Amino acid sequence: GTGRFFTGFCRDLTERHRAEARIQEQQQELLHMARFTALGEMASTLAHEINQPLTAITNYLKGSRRLLEKSAEEHAPMLREAVEKAAEQALRAGDVIRHLRDFVARGESERNVQRLPTLIEEASSLALVGAREADVRVSYKLDPAAELVLTDRIQIQQVLLNLMRNAVEAMQGAPRRELHVMTVARDDGMAEVSVIDTGAGLAPEVSAQLFQPFVTTKKQGMGVGLSICRTIVESHGGHIWAEAMPAGGTAFRFTLRIVDKEEVTNGGE
Ligand code: ADP
Repeated sequence: GTGRFFTGFCRDLTERHRAEARIQEQQQELLHMARFTALGEMASTLAHEINQPLTAITNYLKGSRRLLEKSAEEHAPMLREAVEKAAEQALRAGDVIRHLRDFVARGESERNVQRLPTLIEEASSLALVGAREADVRVSYKLDPAAELVLTDRIQIQQVLLNLMRNAVEAMQGAPRRELHVMTVARDDGMAEVSVIDTGAGLAPEVSAQLFQPFVTTKKQGMGVGLSICRTIVESHGGHIWAEAMPAGGTAFRFTLRIVDKEEVTNGGE
């Protein structure tokens, strides 16, 4: 009755936009890393698989050449030369593969002292996109004594991301869907990180070779996720393994060396 009133609401979205941009950036970094490591795994596997037949080819060719040396046959010298060239090429193929393997293995890895809880938090925010729709309950139990680790941030996040994604996928359609992430400082100076699910458990046909590349039970699966995890964890001096949980579900655990807070403040290694 006394006139017109206007009400305005102002909200500063800078922080939110910044956070979104950061998440996107992280996602890009992780994707890049995933491709890079997948390439490395593929190169190693190929190198391993192809080296054996190449060695066999070289040996057969050497044998053939020796036989040809004794032969009085008219074309023997020409054949000998051809066989020798074939052997050279087989050796060259082996070198190409070895180079590829070395090149990929060299991949830049930058290690810094990182807070394990932060790594877990950041990896979770990426891994659990869509998990709420999948109705997964997530809980954390982080040991304060397992705080600082010396790692390549992106690589360890890649490990966490792979394990959490697998866990969420394993719980699709399961009656209980609970994901539990846990850290424990062990007596041997290692931090043990566990990603535990309440899914259907490991399929018997994969459990023996879980960490081998190209082992998968999924239609769309590449089967390189866990082998990448193993490569990364072992290059950090840790171990990774899986355990069937007594109440059903699977626990994937890996270790990382803990850095003493005093070591960091003293600036020493
Ligand atoms: P991908 O996910 O592409 O199949 P991975 O190497 O990540 O490749 O996993 C290999 C296989 O290990 C999966 O196909 C699945 O059968 C099994 N697996 C991995 N994580 C789990 C889990 N949390 N629960 C049950 N099975 C799992």
